Amino acid sequence: MTTFLGMPTVAPRGVGHLRGDEPFPVAARKALADDQLRRNLGHATRTIRGKRAAVVGEVPDWEELRRAGEAIKAHTMATLDTQLERLEREVTARGGTVHWARDANEANRIVLDLVRATGADEVVKVKSMATQEIGLNEALEAGGVAAWETDLAELIVQLGHDKPSHILVPAIHRNRAEIREIFLREMPGVDPDLTDEPRQLAMAARAHLRRKFLTARVAVSGANFAVAETGTLAVVESEGNGRMCLTLPQTLITVMGIEKVVPTWTDLEVFLQLLPRSSTGERMNPYTSLWTGVTPGDGPQDFHLVLLDNGRTAVLADETGRSALHCIRCSACLNVCPVYERTGGHAYGSVYPGPIGAVLSPQLTGVEDNASLPYASSLCGACFDACPVRIDIPSLLVHLRAEHVEERAKRAVPSPEAIGMAAMSWVMARPGRFRGGERLMRLGRVLGRRRDRISALPPPLSAWTASRDLPRPPAQTFREWWKSRAARSAS
Ligand code: SF4
Repeated sequence: MTTFLGMPTVAPRGVGHLRGDEPFPVAARKALADDQLRRNLGHATRTIRGKRAAVVGEVPDWEELRRAGEAIKAHTMATLDTQLERLEREVTARGGTVHWARDANEANRIVLDLVRATGADEVVKVKSMATQEIGLNEALEAGGVAAWETDLAELIVQLGHDKPSHILVPAIHRNRAEIREIFLREMPGVDPDLTDEPRQLAMAARAHLRRKFLTARVAVSGANFAVAETGTLAVVESEGNGRMCLTLPQTLITVMGIEKVVPTWTDLEVFLQLLPRSSTGERMNPYTSLWTGVTPGDGPQDFHLVLLDNGRTAVLADETGRSALHCIRCSACLNVCPVYERTGGHAYGSVYPGPIGAVLSPQLTGVEDNASLPYASSLCGACFDACPVRIDIPSLLVHLRAEHVEERAKRAVPSPEAIGMAAMSWVMARPGRFRGGERLMRLGRVLGRRRDRISALPPPLSAWTASRDLPRPPAQTFREWWKSRAARSAS
C-alpha cells in the first residue's frame, strides 16, 4: 500500500469525458447552425421551466429550504474527511465493501476487476453522471464487458452512438421521429411498424430492457446521496429502471463522487424536497431507492461502493471554487440558461454542460484544459436564482476567468489581448498620452462617416467588429466639451 503525501491533483487526461475536442466558441457555432437542435432544445427547456416554476411556487418556504440546502452542503464540505470515514465505517459494518479511487483510471480498474471476479461479461447500468465522467462504459468494453444503459434517455443516446447533452434529459436534443429511427435501426427484435407515438416508443424500450434486467448478474449505479450516519445510499429516478437494477442482480457496484455524502437523514430530507421540484418539476419523484449494505436473502448479496475523487479534492482546496461541489445535479441552471438553450450540451465538450459544467469541468480538469468554458455565459444570473442550493455560479465564472487570465500572464509569449491591455494601461497612465490617444481616436470618425458607426476594422481589431459595431467617435472629447462649457459660463 502507498501513502500519497502530495497536493490533490486534477482529473487525468486521456480518460473519461471532461474535456472537449474543440473550444466552446467553435463547437457552439456549429450547434447554432443546427435549426432542428435549437427547436428541440427550445421546446424542451421551455416545458421544464414552466413545470418547475409552478411546483416551486407552491412551496411557501422555498427560500428557507434553499438556504438550508446551502448550509448543509457548506458544512459537509468543511467536514468532508470525517463524513467520508464515517460513511465507510457504516457501509462496512452493514456488509458492504468500500473502495477509494483517486481518479478515473483507478475507478475504472476497480469496477472492471469486481465485474471480472463475478465471471459476468455484461452489466446493467442505472443512469450515472460519475460513470460517464470517468468513461466507465468504454473501459468495461475494452476489458470485454458489455455495459447496458437502462434509463430510457441514456438508452437512446447509447443506441444512437451519441453523447448525452443534458444532465437530466441526456437525449434532449432528439425528437420523437429521430428516436423512432434509432430504435428501428439499432434495437434487436423491434416491431418494424413502430410509430413515433411516445407510448409505443416507451413500450419498445421496456420490452428490450426487461430481457436485460432478468439476465444481468451485475449492476452498476451512481448515487444521488449517501447518508453517513447509517451508510445508506440513495438513487432518485422516474422510470423504475433504477429500482430493477438495484434489486435484481446479485452484485451491485456503486460509483459515487465523494461530494455526494450528507451527514444525516434530516439533511437528506431537505434535498429530497429540493431535487424533484428543481429537476423534473415534480412534487415528488416516482422512485426513491435506498439501500444499506447487504440484507441476507433480499436484493444484491454483494455490494461495493467506489468513492471517486477525480479532481474533487483539488476543487475543495479552492475556498471560492469549492461551492461547485454543492451541486445536486438537478439541471435547473441548464434549463434557464440562455446560452445552453441555444447551443445545447455537446458544445461544452464535457458530461457536465450548462452553467454548472462551465464552473465544475474547468476545476476538475484544471482551468487551462477547459479555458473557454468560464466565458460560455452572459453572467445574467438566472442560474443562481434557479439553483436549489444557491450556488453563486456567476461569481464562480468570474473567479475562474481571473484564474485563467493569471495563468496566461505567466506565459512567455503574451496574447493579443494582453498586449492590448498593456498598451491601454500605458496610454492611460499619463494625461498627455491620454490626450494623444483621444486625438488618434478621432481618426475613427472618417471610418464611421457613412453609417455613423464602425462596422469593419483590420486584424486583430476585426475580432471585435466581426460580431459588434463600434460607435463613431464624437467630434468633441469630454475634456474639450468641459473646457468649452467652463469658458461659456465664465464669459
Ligand atoms: S448548479 Fe444548482 S441548479 Fe445547476 S445542476 Fe447543480 S444544483 Fe442544479
